[in-house]
Amino acid sequence: MYMRTSNFLICTQKETPADAEVISHQLMLRAGLIRKLAAGLYTWLPLGLRVLRKVEAIVREEMDRAGAQEISMPVVQPAELWEESGRWEEYGPELLRIKDRHDRDFCLGPTHEEVVTELVRNEIKSYKQLPLNLYQIQTKVRDEIRPRFGIMRSREFLMKDAYSFHETPASLADTYDVMHGAYSAIFTRLGLDFRPVIADTGSIGGSSSHEFHVLAGSGEDDIAFSDGSGYAANVEMAEALPHSDTRAAASDDMAEVATPGVHTIDELANSLAIPAETTVKTLLVKADDDTGSPVALVLRGDHQLNEIKAEKLAGIASPLAMVEEDAARATCGAGFGSLGPVGLAIPVIVDRSAAVLADFVCGANKDGFHLTGVNWERDLPLPRIEDLRNVVQGDPSPDGNGNLQIKRGIEVGHIFQLGTKYSEAMQANVLNENGKNVPMFMGCYGIGVSRIVAAAIEQNHDDNGITWPTAMAPFQLAIVPLNMHKSEAVAACAEELYADCVAAGIDVLMDDRNERPGVKFADMELMGIPHRIVIGDRTLADDKLEYKGRSDDEATLLPREGILAALQ
Ligand code: ATP
Ligand code: MG
Ligand code: MG
Ligand code: MG
Repeated sequence: MYMRTSNFLICTQKETPADAEVISHQLMLRAGLIRKLAAGLYTWLPLGLRVLRKVEAIVREEMDRAGAQEISMPVVQPAELWEESGRWEEYGPELLRIKDRHDRDFCLGPTHEEVVTELVRNEIKSYKQLPLNLYQIQTKVRDEIRPRFGIMRSREFLMKDAYSFHETPASLADTYDVMHGAYSAIFTRLGLDFRPVIADTGSIGGSSSHEFHVLAGSGEDDIAFSDGSGYAANVEMAEALPHSDTRAAASDDMAEVATPGVHTIDELANSLAIPAETTVKTLLVKADDDTGSPVALVLRGDHQLNEIKAEKLAGIASPLAMVEEDAARATCGAGFGSLGPVGLAIPVIVDRSAAVLADFVCGANKDGFHLTGVNWERDLPLPRIEDLRNVVQGDPSPDGNGNLQIKRGIEVGHIFQLGTKYSEAMQANVLNENGKNVPMFMGCYGIGVSRIVAAAIEQNHDDNGITWPTAMAPFQLAIVPLNMHKSEAVAACAEELYADCVAAGIDVLMDDRNERPGVKFADMELMGIPHRIVIGDRTLADDKLEYKGRSDDEATLLPREGILAALQ
């Protein structure tokens, strides 16, 4: 899209706004991307909206490519659905509640699990219609206790939220992998320095989860990662460990079946007295940091989940033995509930951020309880649960590869395997192959579309303003004619170049304001336009134009003829 500044609302300002703490917030105000209406509520100005739409388009493209289908659900949601899921009580004051004229309760959607589950339970009846992945890009409302950093933590924001539905946990795990890949593609295309990290599942619940973090000093989360292996986790994981009573119960029980210390999987299988001919393909391991006791769960081997996972593990998974579900449940302690028809089938996810395939991330069916680094190779020590509270820069990575770096991250994406939490509570069932009515397995996948804009600025700025990654820039090229209103030659050249850009489909902004050159240059730099061509009488005399990339130190003279081609 092309534009002339004379016809474009430029709202740049010189002064740094006093109440903006972080650089992205300052620059979004100064460059004229947003304006505040009230705490945590912002208007997107034309320049900001162009950036937001670019992010949105990339997200949409990658979601479509990944096989998800776009829908649009209401922002206003009836309380009944939230009562069904139990979250009307559970969600707390972040849920903005309203009443209609008939005194009925509603909320403004902070997320859409309930609404999408209501849709799918009505539309989907058979396993043959699954899997299904629906998404929307839409305004979310959360009454944040501390809205801050501009649109980074606002009370109204744009989110892409997707929800997938499955007959089996294995199908869910497959889509989760596809979404993990799509998210990596999105953040790569956006030109961001990001890390997928193992995450807590928070109030949404469910079993496994990754967050995608953009690295930035102003981030609100600490993330620990090893570039040696690709291991990465959110340090808040540590807080998500089970309460000490659960831990004690688990390790006491476990003492009967496994002695403290380091165990190989074979040793563990032996100490559990598991018959050698039994094959169990999925194992969840915990080593308690306080007591040193390993705690192990050996899962049922006959569930499809495990079989499919076994294929994925081909060549590296040890054949293991199994214990009965009740025994496993007893071992885990009270903290572990049931995942419905699969009993204690706990999804095991190949951590694709790990370079070494032998490392896996396990999730347990307790909100926010995650176990990582399970090593599937025989004869290697059982891993210990991550306690990242005390890690410091340079500590060895829990996966044994490389050392940990600890950096601040901004959460821009979050994917979950929800399991049957919502489908059970809301009776979202399908008929399976055997004609049995079973709850669907669900995944949910969020991206903070508007937060990405701020996160990108945190990573891409200099003393003169924003330095957008190409994919997000509001315009690719600024044409800055000098003295256009006096020089016919400059005006003619500018118009010609502008027309060429329009014809070539280049996102161009022509600064045809009657302003001093310094003002125009400062504005174009502040707004972060990646390429700039200056047209002046002096260089035109030699048939040359002045080109400068946003981060170049010096401008260069390029021949007028073919200048656009030269920039490609
Ligand atoms: P946070 O930890 O920052 O509060 P969250 O974990 O509550 O985020 P999710 O429920 O995972 O958020 O929502 C998906 C995505 O929506 C987040 O990864 C984030 O990028 C974005 N998001 C969440 N809350 C806000 C907000 N208040 N303002 C802008 N974006 C947000
Ligand atoms: Mg939050
Ligand atoms: Mg979070
Ligand atoms: Mg989150």
